[in-house]
Amino acid sequence: MHTFRIGMITMLVGLSIAHGAEAKLRVVATLTEIGALVEEIGGDRVEVARLAKGNEDPHTLPAKPSHSRRMMEANLLVTNGLQLEIGWLPLLIEGARNPRIRPGTIGHLDLSSFIEPLEVPDGPVDRSMGDVHPEGNPHYTVDPSIYPALAEGLADRLSAIDPEGASYYAARLADFERRWTEKLTDWKSRLAFLQGEPIVTYHKQWEYFARTFGLRIIDNVESKPGIPPAPRHIADLEAKIRAENVRRLVHSDLIDPAIMRKLASRSGSRVLALPQAVDSRDGTGDLFSWFETLVSVLERAQKED
Ligand SMILES: [Zn+2]
Repeated sequence: MHTFRIGMITMLVGLSIAHGAEAKLRVVATLTEIGALVEEIGGDRVEVARLAKGNEDPHTLPAKPSHSRRMMEANLLVTNGLQLEIGWLPLLIEGARNPRIRPGTIGHLDLSSFIEPLEVPDGPVDRSMGDVHPEGNPHYTVDPSIYPALAEGLADRLSAIDPEGASYYAARLADFERRWTEKLTDWKSRLAFLQGEPIVTYHKQWEYFARTFGLRIIDNVESKPGIPPAPRHIADLEAKIRAENVRRLVHSDLIDPAIMRKLASRSGSRVLALPQAVDSRDGTGDLFSWFETLVSVLERAQKED
């Protein structure tokens, strides 16, 4: 009898612990800004692990044991898609042996399905073209205008996996969209001076941002994505920068600015580094503070001109 009762208690405690652990949905996000979005919508019902750090290159993320562990335990994997993570994520998914997060399952969410990709190549793509992404430019998370669509898609999926939380997610979505729309209007009006401004960027990663704020990217330092530029291309760029009166050469914090600095000093332009992700700099730990920092950096640069 005694043993039976202890057995019952152990079982009940075991059940409640299991329930407590299940109460939070375990979400793995490939990028910091995706993790930040999941936190906005998921709130207290989710526990989010971010794979790439804000200052790591998401094209080539080194595999870490902590990544595998998180993938094994996850209920939901949220990715950028458009082949941004193709160099490392398929291996991680394979290694995790977690059927819940395999592509095509409810626990695998590719956020690019909620956007219209830019620069989808017309013809076939091969390695001689550099690191061209055959499904289109994958760097859409730097564009604040796409977040409401991403947030809606994410809220739907969270509700499908965790139906008890549906009204909670819907309320957080509505609140996020209200606050985001307000900030987006503010950011757009503060950056109105960028309309039509010609710039040169290092990597092809600011195209979506440029579309939203009216910037004209006239060329990239990398003539082929992911491959260092040939001297010939740099000479062409110098001429272009002068001809188009480009004032700013823009790169992300991830890029070594040496080539751009040389180019800037020769062509009379200035180099500007932008924070490319949530948590890429101090004070950019969530979506709002990241875009606020991005906008402020551009505003400050304008005042220096
Ligand atoms: Zn890229």
